Amino acid sequence: MNIHEYQAKGLLKEFGVPVPQGGLAVTPQEARAVAESLPGPVWVVKAQIHAGGRGKGGGVKVCKSPDAVEEAARAILGMQLVTHQTGPEGKKVHKVWVEQGTDIARELYLSVVLDRAAACLTVMASPDGGMDIEAVAEKTPERIFTTRLDGCLRVWPYQAQSLFFGCGLTQAQVGEGVKLLQGLVELAAAKDATLVEINPLAVTGDGHLVALDAKMNFDESGLKRNPDIAALEDPEEGDPLERKGQEMGVNYVRLDGYVGTMVNGAGLAMATMDAIKQAGALPANFLDAGGGASEETVAAGFSIMLSDPRVRGILINIFGGILRCDIVAQGVVNAARKVNLQLPLVVRLEGTNVEEGRRILRESGLKFETAASMAEAAQRIAGLTKEVRS
Ligand code: ADP
Ligand code: MG
Repeated sequence: MNIHEYQAKGLLKEFGVPVPQGGLAVTPQEARAVAESLPGPVWVVKAQIHAGGRGKGGGVKVCKSPDAVEEAARAILGMQLVTHQTGPEGKKVHKVWVEQGTDIARELYLSVVLDRAAACLTVMASPDGGMDIEAVAEKTPERIFTTRLDGCLRVWPYQAQSLFFGCGLTQAQVGEGVKLLQGLVELAAAKDATLVEINPLAVTGDGHLVALDAKMNFDESGLKRNPDIAALEDPEEGDPLERKGQEMGVNYVRLDGYVGTMVNGAGLAMATMDAIKQAGALPANFLDAGGGASEETVAAGFSIMLSDPRVRGILINIFGGILRCDIVAQGVVNAARKVNLQLPLVVRLEGTNVEEGRRILRESGLKFETAASMAEAAQRIAGLTKEVRS
């Protein structure tokens, strides 16, 4: 789960990491009032969306007066902010964070990230922080230093020192850096964070360290024991279709492809997505209708999948166990009728009540193709969606 920069900065403060003073605003007038309550002479207005790259996209504005803050907030609030992380449709800005402008001498990069392959937290630091860490990783990867943390989930001072001396900090700054990084690691461990990223970590004109940006991601499996983190979820963020799936009780995850899939069981769903890819097409979603799904849940899942405009064809792969094939067939027929389905549809049904399921589909008047095996089903739908594409 992602959180906003302003929420992340609240957590940083709790863990002793220095951040600029600021306040949240949802109207231009509120933004002005926040600026007036902070010492100037410079303020920064920052769009709060769950995506990085806001600076380059016009979502971060440096202002020299409360008037300018109000103006900047008016421009940013309500805008559809497009960054390299939002996709071309962008994200609507509902809130801005107004904070004290910092006099920046240098910008570093610092993050604590869960390395799943190594099964440990890893710290990454670079002297080349700021807005383009991806380019640093690509062009000069030797300028990103990493160190793995042991199972005690703490960073030893010598590890932090070596990272910060590597970034060219002075002795006094390294001292501040060690404390700051210990705070980040403590936060990551205590709150089940999979990412705590400070970019930039600024060295100020008078030589101190301050976190100017903060991006955090938390392991959803840990939210039960971190109710304070769970409470930070913003229902306006995230994929609207995935949210609908949650409300309807179906396991739906949106992907980048164009073949809609509906499957029962997470394992079979993963295998089906592999089969689609092997057949040369790309799945548009993961959808596990679940073992105990009703006709209504199947219909809900089907209609969520169809509301994705990228979907060009559908593959239904059901192995009826507890979930009976006739229930699936009836749910599909109901949903398809409701939306007047015109897309190519390939169905592979096996298992409990398969004959009844096939009869329902046959007699529905729906246009669809059947397949005897999973590989055949995947090849069929790949072929049909390719035709639609060209
Ligand atoms: P993003 O990473 O989404 O572009 P940042 O919070 O990193 O957003 O802001 C982009 C840039 O704006 C930073 O690299 C920094 O140069 C500048 N900036 C951000 N916050 C401040 C601040 N409080 N004072 C001065 N400059 C800032
Ligand atoms: Mg940033």
